[in-house]
Parts: sequence; C-alpha cells; structure tokens
Amino acid sequence: MKKIAILGSTGSIGTQTLEVVRANQEIQVTALAAGSNIVRLEEQIREFLPKLVCVWEEKKAEELRSKIKDLSVQIVSGIEGLIEVATEPQAELVVTAIVGMIGIRPTIAAIEAGKKIALANKETLVTAGHLIMPLAEKKQIRILPVDSEHSAIFQALQGGKQKEISRILLTASGGPFRGRTKKEMDKIRPEDALKHPNWAMGKKITIDSATMVNKGLEVIEARWLFGVKAEQIEVVVQPQSVIHSMVEFLDGGIIAQLGTPDMKLPIQYALYYPERRYLAGKRLNFAELGQITFEAPDFINFRGLALAYQALKIGGNMPTILNAANELAVRRFLDGSIRFLEIPEIIEASMQAVSYQDYPSVEQILETEQETYEWIESRW
Ligand code: NDP
Repeated sequence: MKKIAILGSTGSIGTQTLEVVRANQEIQVTALAAGSNIVRLEEQIREFLPKLVCVWEEKKAEELRSKIKDLSVQIVSGIEGLIEVATEPQAELVVTAIVGMIGIRPTIAAIEAGKKIALANKETLVTAGHLIMPLAEKKQIRILPVDSEHSAIFQALQGGKQKEISRILLTASGGPFRGRTKKEMDKIRPEDALKHPNWAMGKKITIDSATMVNKGLEVIEARWLFGVKAEQIEVVVQPQSVIHSMVEFLDGGIIAQLGTPDMKLPIQYALYYPERRYLAGKRLNFAELGQITFEAPDFINFRGLALAYQALKIGGNMPTILNAANELAVRRFLDGSIRFLEIPEIIEASMQAVSYQDYPSVEQILETEQETYEWIESRW
C-alpha cells in the first residue's frame, strides 16, 4: 500500500488528489495539511483517517481538535506543523498542493527526509528551483510534475532523453481574455477573471491564468524541472486546451500529450508513475473536436509573460521578486483594491526596485519576499 501526505488537501488539487485516492483504494493517506477550511478538513479526516493533520492557524487547529476528539489524530499548526506533515515518517510521497511560496520550506524538508514529491506548488520551484533541483539530485529524489503542461512534457520524455530535447513547446489556453487589448481589459472585475474557459482551479491560479503570469511561472518551472534554457522554451497558444504540451527533440520529431482537460490524469500519473492506470472520465473525440488551433502568445497586452522570461534570464532572486509581487498583487486585485492591469505594473515596478541578489539561500528568498511586500505596501 502506497502511503502519501498532502499539503493543501482542501484546495482544488488537494481534493482531486483525494478523488484519485478514493477511486483506487490502494493508497493510504497518512498526513494532511490545509490553511483554514476545517469543515472540509474534518470530512477528509473522517474519510481518510490520517495520523497527522496541520491547520495553519493555531486557533483553527484548536477548534478542529475539539471537533474530532473521538478520533486519535494529532493536530499541529503553523510552519513547523506543515514541515511535520511534509516529513511524516510513513509517507513515501508528498503531494505539494499548497498555494504560494509558503511551500518552499516544507518541500525542502520533504526532500531532505527522502520523500518523493508530486509537485503542483509551482511557486516553490519558481523561487527556489536552483536549491531544490540539486538537492533532489543529491538525495536521488524524483520530482514528479502535477501541473498538466509539465506532466505532458514528462510523459513526452518517456519517448526520449532530457539531453535530446531541442525545444519545449509549452501550450497555453490564453485564458478568458485572449485576443483583448490592454484598453479592453481596463475594467475587468475579479468575477470576470475568475471564469476560466477550460479549467476549474483555485482562485490564485485562475487569476494568474487570466494575466498569463501563470504561463510565465510555468516557463520558469519548466526550466528547473527539465534542465533547459529560457530560449528553449516556447509558449504556444492552443485555446482548446487539448494538447497539454509538446517536446521537440534534436531530430525535429515532436511528441505531444493530448487529452480532455482533467487534472486527475496528471495527478494520478504522478502518484503511480511509471504505471498507467484506468481513469474514468470523458475521452477525446477528434471528429467532434474538428480542429485544434494555434497562435503566438501576446507579450504586449499580457506583459506578465514577458516579465517572467525576463526574470528567468536575469536569475538570482528576480523570479522571487516577480512571484512575491504577483502573489500580493493578486490578493489585492481579489479584494478589490487594485485594477486588473495593475498586476503586471506592480510586478514590473517591484522588479526594478527591489535589491538584486545572486544565488539566494532559502533565508534570502524569504527576505526578498518580505522586502517585495514592504516595497509594494509603501507605494500602492
Ligand atoms: P487552492 O487555492 O484551491 O488550494 C490551496 C490549498 O492550499 C488549500 O488547501 C489551502 O487551504 C492551502 N493553504 C493555503 N495557505 C496555506 C497555509 N498557510 N498552510 C497550509 N495550507 C495552506 O489552490 P489550487 O489547488 O488551485 O493550487 C495549488 C497549487 O497547485 C498552486 O501552486 C497552483 O499554482 C498549482 N496548480 C494548480 C492547478 C489547478 O488545476 N488547480 C493546476 C496546476 C498547478 P484552505 O483552503 O483550507 O485555506
């Protein structure tokens, strides 16, 4: 029986991971962590009976302890609690489905403890890829991508070697505002941006998809996962979200992975790799689909994507500045205090203002995060 821990179990990826577990009945969940949704967490505890559970706030953890006092589950809290879940002794694999840079320390702790990682939490690789990938190599730990594009690349790479990659063709739906100019995006409200055409996801990544910052974060994530240069990663807009990404090899051959948009496929693939299993769900019908179309990305009106390439090329703590600025800007947009187009403006201004640092340590990454937040708070 495979044993796993899930960071971010109450979110979109977390709950879909538990759906995969429920359908397979061959995985034991030994630990769970979430932010504040203790109602869903209680349901999950009663169904999956983990040994250890972390709730971010101690007050909520206390509430949860009293709700489940009939069960023998240990409830912990805070960053130390998250790290305890990430290193729970029986778990062999940790699903990192938490959102944001908060995932860095638990992910590093899990790798150090020898756990395989099913990685959804892209912000961790974007900001600390230069530390995480060498650590995983040293510890001989596999990082299995959950992001659908990176899973597609990983699946394509089963037909070729990493050193044979010529280009990665990272597909993008273009989000709900594809084809619009900046002027046409001026009055976008959070409720408009939260409607993704093809995928149902958590709020932060849905906004990131609307700004195309998500694709930028994925470019940086791909750089670390597959050891390629920025110039080898090309974004291809494919609005139907049927091709999940492609790899072009040195001989010009291209291998793509296709399917209906369903995150359970990459989640299940990461949980069972290298095995493929039955997964219930809609299958692609090409006659019904009719056509698959392609476009170049719009770097002018979706400036966030251009900024991500810039951050990747500069390196050091620049991806952290980009990511931290984006995390705060998205929160601000969702609470109605900034406009949609201010998200890339805040990112760009932060990248110019916050001090640059080469090869940052975890502490320096977290300091950069703070510095970026403080700089934004003082200006916006
Ligand atoms: P959600 O917002 O749906 O879920 C986030 C999860 O993280 C929730 O369980 C939340 O708990 C938990 N969480 C937030 N803060 C903390 C904290 N401080 N301590 C512990 N837990 C915390 O996000 P998604 O599932 O959409 O995304 C998760 C990650 O996966 C992101 O990095 C995203 O970019 C990536 N991803 C998501 C995809 C998708 O389809 N959703 C696709 C590819 C990648 P609670 O709700 O209880 O507060």
